[in-house]
Amino acid sequence: MSQDKGDFITHTGGCHCGKVLFEVDAPANIEVIDCNCSICAKLAFLHLIVPKSQFRLLQGSDVLTTYRFNTGVGEHPFCSVCGIKSFYIPRSHPTGCSVNVRCLVEGTVKSMSISQFNGARWEENIGSLAPLPPEETGG
Ligand SMILES: [Zn+2]
Repeated sequence: MSQDKGDFITHTGGCHCGKVLFEVDAPANIEVIDCNCSICAKLAFLHLIVPKSQFRLLQGSDVLTTYRFNTGVGEHPFCSVCGIKSFYIPRSHPTGCSVNVRCLVEGTVKSMSISQFNGARWEENIGSLAPLPPEETGG
């Protein structure tokens, strides 16, 4: 399965107050998911989902508080100083990480193609969600 989205670059992002800072490796032209589940709808969270190996938390682990609900599989860490959830571990991809594209520093994302996920009816629709891209190896 090869997806030609161009070379990976490093995007930087974080919370509002700046305590939480991360890097994520992804193409400049990204595919993102707009989900309407109970929590994403309230946050207007735009998902860039990557394998954990493409995500690096640079700072902020000391201020992150993790919120869990429903099945408890998803981990929703938010900054305890400013309240912003800039990334999390989604129930749909527990071996991955979902970054909020709205929390990325401007300038590195060239384009976004947004697909809708009907997470309000999660159990019915989870099968239609693409799996994680294969892990980048070597390099
Ligand atoms: Zn913060």
